[in-house]
Amino acid sequence: AALREGYERFDPRAYLHNNYLPPRADFSSEEFVVPWKLRCLAETFASGEIRGRTLIDVGSGPTIYQLLSACDHFEEIVATDYLAVNREELGRWARGDPGTFDWSPFIRHVCKIEGRGEPWQEKQRRLRQRLRRILPIDVHQPDPLGAPLHPKADAIVSAFCLEAVSPDRAAFARALAHVGSLLRPGGHALLLGALGESFYLAGDAALPVVPLGEDDVRAALRDAGFRLRDFRSYAMPPALRTGVDDVDGVFFVHAQK
Ligand code: SAH
Repeated sequence: AALREGYERFDPRAYLHNNYLPPRADFSSEEFVVPWKLRCLAETFASGEIRGRTLIDVGSGPTIYQLLSACDHFEEIVATDYLAVNREELGRWARGDPGTFDWSPFIRHVCKIEGRGEPWQEKQRRLRQRLRRILPIDVHQPDPLGAPLHPKADAIVSAFCLEAVSPDRAAFARALAHVGSLLRPGGHALLLGALGESFYLAGDAALPVVPLGEDDVRAALRDAGFRLRDFRSYAMPPALRTGVDDVDGVFFVHAQK
């Protein structure tokens, strides 16, 4: 209940400002956290192994950076969020409405690290075209999308969602299992998330987060029936500890169901 109340005050603009502008979104060096996240995803999709018809992004929030490398490998990208304000923000970006958040520095950077010489506008166009559905979701429900998914997804992405909506580690593990049920056997899960974080700010909202250690993430994946393929972690440098949260680091996981 406390979490639900917190999210009623979640301000997408403030959240974007806190996490997706400098100093965190500084593309001048790979030491900053946003370029680190984008590289994890770009390198993982570069293998060509993760592809198919549908990819679901769980808890998209108002952001699309987590879909930039993914969108080349799937016919349809489904974004999801619990909050209407976030789904509306994504819808405005997908339609190209004026006044939405400027993701172009992210798109340029991903085109650069993917190294195919693709013009960034091409990638933006492809993501907008493939982002056909933006759906409500609640990861605390056994069927997070409200009904079992047929056919199941070939891959899921989820960034900074499960630990940010779970009151404790048991709830995190259950939410991961719920999300895993959206995936076909053999499907791939790519997760980014916060380590050792107890809260983050988004305007007037202070959202509680379950502080996770690397072993909590590994155990929850195992219990949810995933095989770990890659685990990376990033220590938040002092210059990026800006007071918008108390995060210690970030994990990246590639796992297979
Ligand atoms: N993926 C984005 C946003 C993460 S913030 C990023 O990488 O920055 C956490 C998101 O979880 C918010 O957008 C919030 O609206 C969403 N959320 C809150 N409660 C949820 C629930 N019960 N199920 C799924 N998502 C939820």
